[in-house]
Amino acid sequence: MAKPKNETAATQLRKDDLIVIGGAGGFIAGSLVRYFAEQGFKRIRAIDKKPLPEWYQRVPGVESLCMDLSEWENCVRACEGAVEVYNLAADMGGMGFIERFRVECLRSILINTHMIEAAYRAGAQRYFYASSACAYNTDLQKDPQCRALKESDAYPAMAERGYGWEKLVSEMFCQEYWAERGLRTAIARFHNVYGPNGTWDGGREKAPAAICRKVVEARDTGRHEIEIWGDGTQTRSFMYIDDCVKGIDMIMHCDKLIATPINLGSSELISINDLVSLAEKIGGLKLKRSYDLDAPRGVAGRNSDNTMIQEILGWQPNTPLKVGLKKTHTWIAQQYKDRKSGKRTVS
Ligand code: NAD
Repeated sequence: MAKPKNETAATQLRKDDLIVIGGAGGFIAGSLVRYFAEQGFKRIRAIDKKPLPEWYQRVPGVESLCMDLSEWENCVRACEGAVEVYNLAADMGGMGFIERFRVECLRSILINTHMIEAAYRAGAQRYFYASSACAYNTDLQKDPQCRALKESDAYPAMAERGYGWEKLVSEMFCQEYWAERGLRTAIARFHNVYGPNGTWDGGREKAPAAICRKVVEARDTGRHEIEIWGDGTQTRSFMYIDDCVKGIDMIMHCDKLIATPINLGSSELISINDLVSLAEKIGGLKLKRSYDLDAPRGVAGRNSDNTMIQEILGWQPNTPLKVGLKKTHTWIAQQYKDRKSGKRTVS
């Protein structure tokens, strides 16, 4: 099959068009800001509610603003003059966070509700929304050897309580803004993204970062033990951050995908036990495992069916897990060392 000819920001925008990115103090949006800046886009407005010193990445030359995007007036200010708006701001974290703080997760609805209206009123050409595989019907995810989830599996709806339902409703906003008002919206359902410059400690971190940190800690303290949440048989797929930002760009600029939720993830399924083994190999040590069966573990199995994204965009992740995890481990090991020596770090 011939490779589709893809549109991207580079083929559609002028270098001085204003790109607005919400959640830019966070993991994925921070990398998206860097990605566009490295392509020579000169007007990028990055926004997060976190104070600037706590952002994972600050890119020189980018207008970086600390604002709460759940407030309407701030969204109006954020979207002023925007040609494209990327909304990746959300109150979120790994299973430990989203199972415990459902109200916070649900309240992210305010961010998308205001941002999309502000983008529309500002006359933005395109609007991107970061959805999640947590929008999928949880009944289909009860087996570690689950079949991969395809886009139509979100309905009939039985999303993850709190976080997943917020994603599903926000997706619907994006679809109706296109149907009724003609705003070109793009919706990617991310499946577990990992990599450097993301949360690695403090309660919001996801499995790959948490496991790398535990390996680093074990090496440092000499206590060669690791606690695993659940029985370790639960399976997931993990996408490296560089593949993710490239995918966002391609999805955003594809007219065939307007208002169409699409998977953006890896289809390389791995159990948490095997992820730990991989991290041990990278860290060069073996740990005694204990299992906390009462800890949040999420669904039993979840994988991404990439048929649609391969057919329409020819996109596939090209960073093998062992390569991406090594880079993540190296970054976390450095953060750990810096923190220990009293340097300021972002967790
Ligand atoms: P992150 O927590 O690192 O980044 C989100 C950022 O949004 C944070 O910096 C946070 O301070 C900011 N934020 C929260 N509320 C805000 C508000 N009211 N105003 C302004 N900023 C606010 O998370 P991430 O991993 O970078 O995720 C980005 C998006 O992708 C989120 O919508 C998330 O739900 C989605 N997603 C991520 C993953 C993943 O594996 N990381 C998977 C599925 C979906």
